Amino acid sequence: MGKRSGVVYLFMVLLMVGCTSNSSISGVSNEKSNIEENKVETKEIEEITELEEQEIVPEKRNELEKLAVEVNGKVYEESSQFSEYVSGVKTRLNTDDKVISLTLDACGGEFGSGYDNDLISFLIEQNIKADLFVNARWVEAQYDTFMELSQNPLFTIQNHGTEHKPLSLTPRSAWGISSTSTQSEIIDEIMENQLKIYDATGTIPKYFRSGTAFYDETSVEIAEDLGLQVVNFDVIGDGGATFTKGEVVQEMLKAQPGSIVILHMNQPDSETAEGVKEAVLSLLEQGFSFVHLQEYELH
Ligand SMILES: [Zn+2]
Repeated sequence: MGKRSGVVYLFMVLLMVGCTSNSSISGVSNEKSNIEENKVETKEIEEITELEEQEIVPEKRNELEKLAVEVNGKVYEESSQFSEYVSGVKTRLNTDDKVISLTLDACGGEFGSGYDNDLISFLIEQNIKADLFVNARWVEAQYDTFMELSQNPLFTIQNHGTEHKPLSLTPRSAWGISSTSTQSEIIDEIMENQLKIYDATGTIPKYFRSGTAFYDETSVEIAEDLGLQVVNFDVIGDGGATFTKGEVVQEMLKAQPGSIVILHMNQPDSETAEGVKEAVLSLLEQGFSFVHLQEYELH
């Protein structure tokens, strides 16, 4: 039982306890029951409904698994492109509004499983929205933090792959990291983490970004068939958490209306947080606001 369904269960128990202490089974001797009590009960029911939408439902999980099998049986054309910007990859919000999307990757693995508390605390203090792209290995390493973040409405949880591999139908590599090399490997890289996130949070991610952000165009098509849009960026905010504070500020201030910025939340020793603080405050002063990807169409 996941944490959320546990919460739902608790609500139901509370509601049942409330019922038995206030009224008889038939309700005949319940004349004392006043409107206020009814209001409380109604409110509790609404909360239960809201939470149940996020509950882990076996049918929904089965649907995801069925979809993976279906897509595995499809025949795709060979790919010819391999980069961060192949056909089908989204890099901007389709709008002229002065809005920016911050996308924070959490890569996991031996050197990528940290948590930048300074960065996230700043976003929470300033009420800044962000989309968090988490890798399965990071979820395992930072499970409690992950669960806490998944319950904060400032953040959405998105899919950053299972083993942090570039996606390709044939063997390729990016930044020295070997890609997937078959259709089923592509599907596993996407869907194992998709199911992991669903099992933990009851929410199915809508967006995918691979480890290294490299793809061939066939993988992008496969991700879309699995129900995910592939999202990269038009602003490289922290160069894989290698930029100095000054570089982060300089790059982030290049954001335009509808920009998608890539940053990292898994490298607490980097200068990302310090740079983001200065850049975000400056962008707010310029009249920008920060939105979730799902608030706009992407292109
Ligand atoms: Zn990554």
